[in-house]
Amino acid sequence: MSRPAPAAASRLVYSTDAGRICPDCRQPATACSCGRPQRTIPPAGGPIRVSREKAGRGGKLVTVVRGLPLDDEALAALGKRLRTACGTGGTAKDGQLELQGDHVDKVVAWLVAQGHPTAKRAGG
Ligand SMILES: [Zn+2]
Repeated sequence: MSRPAPAAASRLVYSTDAGRICPDCRQPATACSCGRPQRTIPPAGGPIRVSREKAGRGGKLVTVVRGLPLDDEALAALGKRLRTACGTGGTAKDGQLELQGDHVDKVVAWLVAQGHPTAKRAGG
């Protein structure tokens, strides 16, 4: 491992607290949520609903998980593990997870085992 050259190091300390302010809301970049989709994260302990639905016109069955108390990043990570557990594909978007195929019972059991005891089957 080599240390950075002096020139590179001085560039690294250039940014200051006031250096990154959002031009739209005048908030520091770290506090700004402009351009990010606004989404309310459900409170932990709320109901997590797992339902089997038909996606699109093709009518393919998908398993949808709603109400997870996770931000988008954590949701995506959980979705990846869930897809691996179910051996199927799917997506994480708009605060919900979607898995291809009917895996409702397996998903409920998996979520409970992962520390989400409020996970329940919803709908038919
Ligand atoms: Zn902003």
